[in-house]
Amino acid sequence: MSYWRSTTVKWDSLCPRSSLWQRFGREPSDDWAGYGVGRQVHAAIEAKLRCLPVEAPSSLTVVELRDYVELVENAETMGLLDLDHQSVELTLRSPLDGEERHWLTLKPSEGTHYSITPDAFRVEDNVAYVDDWKTQQGLNADASLDDNVQAVTYGAAVAELTGVERVVFTFWNLRFKVGQQIDKPAGWFIAKAEKLWAAMVERDKVPVADIEADFRPGEHCGRCPFRTDCLSELVDDALAGTETDDRELYRRWHALRELASMAKRDVTARVRARTSVLELEDGTQLGTQRIPTRAWSRKNADVAVRGHLWQAIAARALTEGADFSEVFEPKRPKSGGLMTWLASLPEGARDIADKNLNHGDRQTLIKLPKEK
Ligand code: SF4
Repeated sequence: MSYWRSTTVKWDSLCPRSSLWQRFGREPSDDWAGYGVGRQVHAAIEAKLRCLPVEAPSSLTVVELRDYVELVENAETMGLLDLDHQSVELTLRSPLDGEERHWLTLKPSEGTHYSITPDAFRVEDNVAYVDDWKTQQGLNADASLDDNVQAVTYGAAVAELTGVERVVFTFWNLRFKVGQQIDKPAGWFIAKAEKLWAAMVERDKVPVADIEADFRPGEHCGRCPFRTDCLSELVDDALAGTETDDRELYRRWHALRELASMAKRDVTARVRARTSVLELEDGTQLGTQRIPTRAWSRKNADVAVRGHLWQAIAARALTEGADFSEVFEPKRPKSGGLMTWLASLPEGARDIADKNLNHGDRQTLIKLPKEK
């Protein structure tokens, strides 16, 4: 049994494997914390509309809690809670307890279902008003909402359910305190949604194994509910090195790359939070440190001035026994940059060079042995 919803339609373009697993109810291996504030804000609005007590969520951090309070206040100042709650029908999959108790499920065909969970809707004068609260940072790029899957399908489902003539669907963005709205005859929503539902039925006819084999790793893996299961499987396969299909190999490389950047993000976050530097066996140091830097000063940009300066450095270096070819070209030291070149100079020549350099420092999280 396949259960589509607006998010699984989106995921079908991002990564068909993830969408398939979501539709068929596979147990998620990960829960992305980025949705935490949004879930709690939805729960608070639902509770307020139902005239139930609202409790401050204990799972949020201080900063998240501040955002949560602000977003709920915004909902109030936007007048979203002034609706006559008696006329508001909530068919929400309750964020309070996660129970899927009031899903409105359409069956475009046997085996294919489409679930909608409008945050609220009410009917007045043969018009259905469908409202959805949004807590994300961005607005829909297509302000007309003409092709917005959620707006179209929710509008159509509510129109079919209530038999109204018109539907007004609104995304209320609680961060920006604006609404994006589409107001059309019910038939318009139904005609648009039927095309989408027909496409979902067709999609469900594709053999499961074929869709499962179509995975598209990318930055969205970080939000994917199956990332641990999926990426570890891909890594195992990649390490086994038995893949002969070039397309598969290419995808596995992308999965590994994504895994590497996730690991890098984790390391960076962990190292940044360290209160002491950790030194590894090879001399690498993990932890926030400031490293001194040198750069040629602007006043030495003039070719003639620079020429005199090089001559002075080289002359002094030669008197100190340096190899001319090693020291004369400061712009192209053999390796390691300006600091390495500086360190390779004899003491007197280094003093001359150092006096003519700008001194600064930069922050580093990972200091490699060669940088010491
Ligand atoms: S982890 Fe990435 S590649 Fe795997 S299913 Fe999720 S989105 Fe697709």
